[in-house]
Order: sequence, then structure tokens, then C-alpha cells
Amino acid sequence: MEIKVVLATLVELAALEERLVAARDARDRHTRRDDHLGALGRELADDSRVAREAVEQATSALRRLDRELHEVEAAMADRQSRLAKVADDRQAVAVRNELAAFGCRREALEAEALGLLATLERAEAAAGEADADGSRQEARTRTELGTLAAAADRGAAALAAGTEEMARLLALLPDDLARYVRRMQGRDGRGVAMLRDGVCDGCFGQLPAALAAEVARRQTVVKCTGCGRVII
Ligand SMILES: [Zn+2]
Repeated sequence: MEIKVVLATLVELAALEERLVAARDARDRHTRRDDHLGALGRELADDSRVAREAVEQATSALRRLDRELHEVEAAMADRQSRLAKVADDRQAVAVRNELAAFGCRREALEAEALGLLATLERAEAAAGEADADGSRQEARTRTELGTLAAAADRGAAALAAGTEEMARLLALLPDDLARYVRRMQGRDGRGVAMLRDGVCDGCFGQLPAALAAEVARRQTVVKCTGCGRVII
């Protein structure tokens, strides 16, 4: 096989490798973002759940407090009606003492209820915010993943077409060279590298001047001393 044809095939092959690597990147980016955004969505859903739980806790605490307040008020009404009926002073003092104690308890409960109402308000605001955060993120995720999925689809199509084209190009090369390129491609998809200003663009190593000169003469197939890729 004529060396000119081999080198021309290798040039074509290098360009195809570049397209295939880009297509694989697009597919992997989509997968990674999908994973990342999925985790983010779960985190935000957790935040929402925790915020809702805080609202529920404050609501049920408030309900309990309300019940106790009613009980205290009922007891106070009971003592008041008893006070109207008691005959002697000693009993009246005892009922009045009870009334005073219930009055203190009612005041304490009312103060507690006020505090809880403020807590509930804050919890509801936080829950609303967490829900809004979740919805916003969900919308962003849908948009971003949609774009990435389209790129990944294009990448998958390019991969399928490119893989076929790669087989065709490799078949044009002498068997041992094709095998070698395929083995080198196994690492990161690139079996052929370009020489740019004496540097291999596969490993960014400087090629010895004599080898670089050989690449320029275009009479033989040269391999990089650094990474082993075929150099064109
Ligand atoms: Zn190299």
C-alpha cells in the first residue's frame, strides 16, 4: 500500500476520532448532569419535606395549646359559679386562690400560643420558599436536561455513524497498523495524534527533532515516543 494513501487515511481517521470523542463527551455530560440534577432535586424535595414537617409540628402544638386553654377557661367558669354559691369565707378564699392559679396558667398559655403562632408563620414562609425553590429547580432541570438530551441524541447518532466509518477507514490500513491504532484507541478513543510545532497533541510531549523531521518527510508511519500514538 502506498504510504501517501496510508497517511491520508490516517488524517481522515484522526478527524473522525475527534468527532467521536466529542460525541462521547456529549453523551457522558448528559449522564453526569442527569445524575447531578437528580440528586439536587432529591435534596430540594427533602428540604420541602422538612419545612412541611416543621409546619405540621407547630400546627399540632398550637392545637394542643388551644385545647388546654379551653380546659383552663372551663375550669375558671366552674370556679366562678362555685364562688357565687360558697357559704363561708375559708372556702371562698380557697376557690379564689384556685381562680388566681388558673388565671396565671391561662396567661402563660396565651403567651406560649403567641410564640407558637410566630413560629408557625416562619415555618409556613420557609415551606413556601422551599416549594418555590423546588419548582424553580425542576423547571431549570427540565430545560437543561432537554438541551443536553438533544446533544446526547445527536452524539449517539454521530457515534453510530462514526463507528461504522471508523471500521471502514481502519479496513483501508495495513492490518498491523489498523490493529495498532485500534489498540491505542482503547484508552481514550484517540489512536492518531497531530504534530503541532514539534509537540504531539495527544500527550503534549516534545517529539525528538529527528522523528519530527521524519513526520514532515511523510515517507513512513511515525509513533510518538511519549504516548505511542501514530503521529501525522
Ligand atoms: Zn504523544
